[in-house]
Amino acid sequence: MTTLVVVGGGIAGYCAALAARRDGANVTVIARAPGATALYAGGMEVIDDLEAVLEQQLHHPITRLGLDSVRLSTEFDTAIQALRLALEKEGLKFEGTWRTRGLYADIHGVARPANLVPASVAGGELRALGGKRVAVIGVREVGDYDAASTAQALKELHGIDAFPEEVSIPDLPQAASLTDLYGRRAPQPLRTRSASIAYPPGFTNLPREGFELLSSPPSPHGWRLQQAIAHSDVRAEVTSFETARGRVASARAGDRTFRADAFVLATGRHIGGGLTGGRVTSEPLLNLGVFHDGSPVTSLGTRLQHLQYLDPAEELRSGLLTDNRLHPLDDDGRVAYENLYAAGAVLGGYDYSGPCGFGVPILTGWLAGRWAAKS
Ligand SMILES: Cc1cc2nc3c(=O)[nH]c(=O)nc-3n(C[C@H](O)[C@H](O)[C@H](O)COP(=O)(O)OP(=O)(O)OC[C@H]3O[C@@H](n4cnc5c(N)ncnc54)[C@H](O)[C@@H]3O)c2cc1C
Repeated sequence: MTTLVVVGGGIAGYCAALAARRDGANVTVIARAPGATALYAGGMEVIDDLEAVLEQQLHHPITRLGLDSVRLSTEFDTAIQALRLALEKEGLKFEGTWRTRGLYADIHGVARPANLVPASVAGGELRALGGKRVAVIGVREVGDYDAASTAQALKELHGIDAFPEEVSIPDLPQAASLTDLYGRRAPQPLRTRSASIAYPPGFTNLPREGFELLSSPPSPHGWRLQQAIAHSDVRAEVTSFETARGRVASARAGDRTFRADAFVLATGRHIGGGLTGGRVTSEPLLNLGVFHDGSPVTSLGTRLQHLQYLDPAEELRSGLLTDNRLHPLDDDGRVAYENLYAAGAVLGGYDYSGPCGFGVPILTGWLAGRWAAKS
């Protein structure tokens, strides 16, 4: 049986472990803390236009897999079906597919696209709300959310017949915030007969016609997801790896050593800790190559700083580059270690807060887990 260590407890690490266990590997996931996955707004963006990515984005992690769109579609189908089933077993039901995108409002009434959403969010798809009355629930004691503004935005931006309805939850702490609603039973409004009901995120036991809005960080949706995926993790920080003859032999975390046949690095970007910022972005654990548009960032001099000055989002595209089997490369473009795989937001070549925010971690995590299990 192949032994596999996955470093990273976000969605990429979870998908890697899921795939590898399905293929019979003995998997240990090591994670030091929640990363960007715990902050997501509540809608998973998987991919917008697969063909356009393959044609136009040469350094995109999905393009670099070297698979055609038919094979990639099959892989997405399999990975997402497995992910949805696994999350459902943990009590988190998702709806949607990677082939279709819906629009969902956040707590400010602003629309965001998503392919997969929790079942508690699905009822708020904006086009499906057309022609319905929507009560937006406000909580009198909560200071950082205003249902009246959200209802107004739903009306003005999306033409939805929305109106605010305030409820009171007297046992909330003084100067309560949205996070204090987490895990409470949804209050039943009085005036909402025959209306859909938009709740701020975090409540449980929503009525049949109720749905949750998307959140801004800290995100109840992200927290629920993180709790669902982190059950079997070893809580520790990997500080170094032992390597020999082009292979990784073990990962070191405190006074513990984790030996394995293969390793998946799913350490995320700056929030997860997989990349370290500074004058030149680096990968802190194995000093792997960090690339921007196919060039090592170490070769770009001040050009990257200049590009970032013009558009701060540029830096979000820097990250590891992999071969077509998800082996990360060193600065010279060679496979760094034959039994090391990389997945998720630690990869460069795409904007991780864009239309593949979850698509890249899910697909590369899934494939890295499968390939590592066979290594
Ligand atoms: C604020 C915010 C909101 C977002 N909202 C959305 C959204 O609504 N929709 C969407 O599609 N995408 C969204 N994204 C993008 C999406 O959340 C990320 O792309 C995705 O969660 C990345 O998953 P990941 O597993 O690669 O990394 P992460 O979730 O960051 O996980 C990295 C993991 O690696 C661990 N780790 C790192 N280094 C070590 C180490 N040395 N030892 C042990 N563990 C280590 C971390 O502790 C963490 O567990 C958002 C991103 C942010 C920042």
